[in-house]
Amino acid sequence: MQFPFTARYASLPSHMYEGALPTPVSDPSYLLVNHELALDLGLDADALAGAEGLAVLAGNTIPVTATPLSMAYAAHQFGHFVPQLGDGRAILLGELRDQRGVLQDVQLKGAGPTPYSRRGDGRNWFGPVLREYVISEWMHTMGVPTTRALAAVATGEHIQRQRVLPGAILTRVARSHIRVGTFEYFSSRQDTDGLTALVDHVIAHHFPDAAAAEWPALALLQAVAQRQAELVAHWLSVGFIHGVMNTDNCSVTGDTIDYGPCAFMDDFREHQVFSSIDHRGRYAYSNQAPVAQWNLSILARSLLPLIGADIKAGVALAQPVVDAFPDILESARLALFRRKLGLVTHKEDDDALVNDLLTVMNDDEADFTRTFRGLSHSASVARAEFAVPQAFDAWAERWTSRVALDQDEDSRRAAMQAVNPAYIPRNHRIEQMIEAAVLGNLTPLHTLVDVLSEPFVERTEYADYALGPAPNEVVHATFCGT
Ligand code: AMP
Ligand code: MG
Repeated sequence: MQFPFTARYASLPSHMYEGALPTPVSDPSYLLVNHELALDLGLDADALAGAEGLAVLAGNTIPVTATPLSMAYAAHQFGHFVPQLGDGRAILLGELRDQRGVLQDVQLKGAGPTPYSRRGDGRNWFGPVLREYVISEWMHTMGVPTTRALAAVATGEHIQRQRVLPGAILTRVARSHIRVGTFEYFSSRQDTDGLTALVDHVIAHHFPDAAAAEWPALALLQAVAQRQAELVAHWLSVGFIHGVMNTDNCSVTGDTIDYGPCAFMDDFREHQVFSSIDHRGRYAYSNQAPVAQWNLSILARSLLPLIGADIKAGVALAQPVVDAFPDILESARLALFRRKLGLVTHKEDDDALVNDLLTVMNDDEADFTRTFRGLSHSASVARAEFAVPQAFDAWAERWTSRVALDQDEDSRRAAMQAVNPAYIPRNHRIEQMIEAAVLGNLTPLHTLVDVLSEPFVERTEYADYALGPAPNEVVHATFCGT
């Protein structure tokens, strides 16, 4: 089987990464293979699903075209600088060109230790692998920028965590694995050559328009700001909480990356946190916009040596980009929420209409997904999501007269049902699917993949999947799963 890998990252200066070979596993088998993505990457999907493909994605065979490596990066984790991180449990095999001509990194996550593993084992288990596969593919289906999943492989081996768990490897596909933390790695070492090589690489491959700017690194910062703003707006529009927005988990291409303790809200609470390690709510739902700006300021600081004649001039140029970020994000957010409410034209009070609904939902802890999906049928369907519906009723009167100005009832319904999903990867379904898979039952996994493949089509046989959790099913905390 052919893997026509290129080696764009491997062609960068050698101190930007370390060579790292996957460690073979004893008895690999597929949990999931993504045929559609395999075809998009120009692979023979049937061969990939067979023994030859499995051996590669299990790390047992290295294609001759691969240049396996782990990338160096640093990070701010929960606000604190960590100068040396890097791919401790991820190995990049190379890049494949997709059908649009874009190079996509192909990375094995959980294929054994690398020079950056420190005390970790470089391994992964069913839980994080299946979570990431299912959630990242749903995000892709929804049009939210994200890394993707080509396969989930069971290693046939067990690993030690709080308990002994079955090992697994995720094949992650992304247009880039370069993070804000990658820039920090070089700038904190005052390695201007490394920083320049990284910036040139990112501009050449991802932001070619920036090359012609007076200060390309400034244009890069602007472009990343735009991508990050759109990304976080998308997250907010689907009730997504990333959970660990450290700068090593902040992709420079603006894709959702590192599905650790992430979760979707059932009941809407602005300050919701799920991650068991986020004690102060730094990465709460409503903090994601300010944190994205904070991360952008870290990127700006890292790029300063390449912006302006000196640091002072650089700050004068970069600061306005960081300062403009909240407005860019807010208008991206409002555009998405306007669509969710079926609004086409712009009226002065639209922002208030959006925000007032969220306030009413927050006060009542109404189910986020069901409220918007309900509204896309009618106000009276959404009303059922409210325990005390008076405030919602008052809001719904305003909304009903407002949407009537823009389009007829049928068009509005069709438009809203195309953006407000009936099915999301609800936490309790994810947890139940993982528990079953660990016990050897993959039926819930396959059902969930099928349900989530068409988030906007209500299927009677899957009506239960559109419901929130029963009281005994509610997931209160999520874990990194490292
Ligand atoms: P994460 O929380 O997944 O973003 O990971 C933070 C850092 O810890 C990264 O440098 C990872 O590569 C590393 N890491 C996480 N899990 C493991 C593991 N099982 N073995 C080695 N390194 C790991
Ligand atoms: Mg990470």
